[in-house]
Amino acid sequence: MGKMIETSDHDLPLAILGELVIMPHMTVPLQVGQGKSYRAMEQAWENDHLVLLIFVSESEIETYKSSQPQQLPPVGVIARLDEFVKLPDGTARIILEGISRALVQTMLQSEPFYRVRCHAISDPEPRGIEIEALMDSVKQQIDEFVDHLGEVPQDAVAFVHRIDKPGHLADIVTWAPAFEFEERLDILNELDPVERLRRAHRLLARQLELLKLRQKIQQDTKEVLDQSQREYFLREQMRVIRRELGEDDDVDDPIDELKRKIAQLDAPDYVKEQAMHELKRLAQQGMNSPEAGVIRTYLDWILNLPWAEEELPEISLHEAQKVLDEDHYGLERVKERILEYLAVRKLAGNRMRSPILCFVGPPGVGKTSLGRSIARALGRKFVRTSLGGIRDEAEIRGHRRTYIGALPGRIIQGMKTAKSRYPVYVLDEIDKVGQDFRGDPTSALLEVLDPEQNNAFSDHYLEIPFDLSQVVFIATANQLDTIPNPLRDRMEIIEIGGYTEDEKLGIAQGFLVRKQREFHGLAPDQLIITDAAIIKLVREYTREAGVRNLEREIASLCRKTARKVAAASDGDPVEFPIVIDAPDIPNYLGPERYTFGLAEEKDEVGVATGVTWSPTGGDVLSIEVLPVRGKGGLQLTGQLGEVMKESAQAAMSYARFRAEQLGVDPSYFDEHNIHIHVPEGAVPKDGPSAGITLTTALISAVTGKPVRRDVAMTGEITLRGKVLPIGGLKEKTLAAHRAGIRTFILPKDNAKDIAELPKKVREELQLIPVSSMDEVLKIALAHQGS
Ligand code: ADP
Repeated sequence: MGKMIETSDHDLPLAILGELVIMPHMTVPLQVGQGKSYRAMEQAWENDHLVLLIFVSESEIETYKSSQPQQLPPVGVIARLDEFVKLPDGTARIILEGISRALVQTMLQSEPFYRVRCHAISDPEPRGIEIEALMDSVKQQIDEFVDHLGEVPQDAVAFVHRIDKPGHLADIVTWAPAFEFEERLDILNELDPVERLRRAHRLLARQLELLKLRQKIQQDTKEVLDQSQREYFLREQMRVIRRELGEDDDVDDPIDELKRKIAQLDAPDYVKEQAMHELKRLAQQGMNSPEAGVIRTYLDWILNLPWAEEELPEISLHEAQKVLDEDHYGLERVKERILEYLAVRKLAGNRMRSPILCFVGPPGVGKTSLGRSIARALGRKFVRTSLGGIRDEAEIRGHRRTYIGALPGRIIQGMKTAKSRYPVYVLDEIDKVGQDFRGDPTSALLEVLDPEQNNAFSDHYLEIPFDLSQVVFIATANQLDTIPNPLRDRMEIIEIGGYTEDEKLGIAQGFLVRKQREFHGLAPDQLIITDAAIIKLVREYTREAGVRNLEREIASLCRKTARKVAAASDGDPVEFPIVIDAPDIPNYLGPERYTFGLAEEKDEVGVATGVTWSPTGGDVLSIEVLPVRGKGGLQLTGQLGEVMKESAQAAMSYARFRAEQLGVDPSYFDEHNIHIHVPEGAVPKDGPSAGITLTTALISAVTGKPVRRDVAMTGEITLRGKVLPIGGLKEKTLAAHRAGIRTFILPKDNAKDIAELPKKVREELQLIPVSSMDEVLKIALAHQGS
């Protein structure tokens, strides 16, 4: 375990736990009820699964529920949610895994849940004889403790002995059930690992004293106890006899109960045998033994996994087409590919290795929801799990049961949620799987996805094979190049680009508004959002390739309308339908967040417009060049990547090479320093595709000729001014179109990709393929009549 988290600031949803401390490295299943903490965890589950936990006493917890607290505890724990399952009674079952201590800094938000800035800290790792000795002494105490308790699994003890960091050891000590909440909190709050271990040592010493005392008392009362024990056994026997005689049927022995469940389980024989074997162990050890909990959890998993075979409905392509169209606007080519895929599945059945579909594209373009539709079209259950940030093989394959707090891996956890052996299983963020010394999760994933192996997938926790061969796996990713090659080879890649403004309008009016209206309990005749209002949301409240934030803003409008409707039923006068038009938006959502259109209105000298691509979509950026008197230096600002710096060098060389033809004295470059700046700090500015933009801005600056503001461009440049092809044309043209650009210069070698661009973009952007820098300058420099 022990996932790394960067030692840095995080803004995280906050969950407050009462009378319970979850230390780093500790995994704990819990049930949470509705409230702020529930909402915080729900939020975390939808995002990166991280929450900040703080721990308070039962009496304090009330104050957090009612109002914003005056002061937060100094130390919390950043934890990962490994499971979040909503239960019918409104609570949720969760699994939390402590990752790192964190200093709690400031409250950022208190509604609808708390959000807090915190600073993750990891223990320093001091060494030395004294520390070694202290650690040995604590381990000895633990041994002694275990001797007294008896029946602690040998593996758990061995595990403790292998710990070699003082802070970690101190944390582990607090897992023992004997400690009080305050004592655990004390250990948590101590940031110095050695001091922390000293405290753990003192606490353990006290517990040992107590244990010994208790044993002495027990010894003294043994005689009395023997008497009552005799009675207990006699009663037990009487109970068994009565049951044999059929006189007592209200006895509910948990072992019998489990036996019955196992017998009824619809599963292959090897599963039942394993379950019976474990049950026998449980019966031998007794329900009150320390290991009973572990065995029961295990049996619980076995009993709740979908082992059974099912009849699946025939795939009807006609039906599938209908479902895809019902759920999604446009995406014709993508739908076509999905239907082809389904056709192959239908014809080949299980005889062929059908490839894994992988949807690649920016966030919010419908990758996950297409997966959901495919499930609906196939009449199968739907599950998803995010692979983002997984670095450890055990997260895929689980931990062995000897590990404290062990659980199955994500794949099996997903199967339990699916409640079917035949689901559509979406593996999100397959491009963000990492790898490090704890083993490579990729190879485990390959086994999951390989039809030759996945009929007997082995999870370390389960120990017995699970058949995944009937699962329809679908992967999603933001970008292709970080997916490990062996995985990529397994998959059929379907790229989904961003949407144009028109498409977003269509998606909003055809789908998002309806969906959010229903979700908020509004009738169609209660709320109308005009097209102009949607366009305003698209242009001035969101800036994205997909429609995720657009949907969020529409949800906000619906929520606010729902409040009005509720007020109406209380007697406030409201006229239906409530129509939200563009000018009303700021009343609902506050002032505009982005300016639409070109930042500068007029042509300027030394400023050119380029476009960038990143996994979340395209964006426009301005490059500025300013020559100042000097000795021929080149200065770059705006946190540029290495590749961008090389582009700038190439631009300089080209400009020098062409200086005379451009009417610039060659000595100009020796008498000036050239300062290049790329404003807007947040955009990643790497990649060679800004080459021609840099060069244009530079030449404009040295010749004094302004650059046309309505022109954007992309292309790599060689030293001699040839224009080379680039990637991500679709996202780049969409971003330019979004920003109101009229003319778009692209490398000639990319001209073949033009046919793939959305119709609207082809119609409204003048796309000009070029092969040399001369052509770029002819188009981009304003000619002011000369
Ligand atoms: P992704 O998985 O690509 O990040 P999602 O599938 O979560 O995106 O999509 C975000 C939201 O936008 C969902 O509610 C989805 O239904 C909706 N959406 C995206 N594309 C379309 C579309 N073409 N038609 C209808 N709804 C869409």
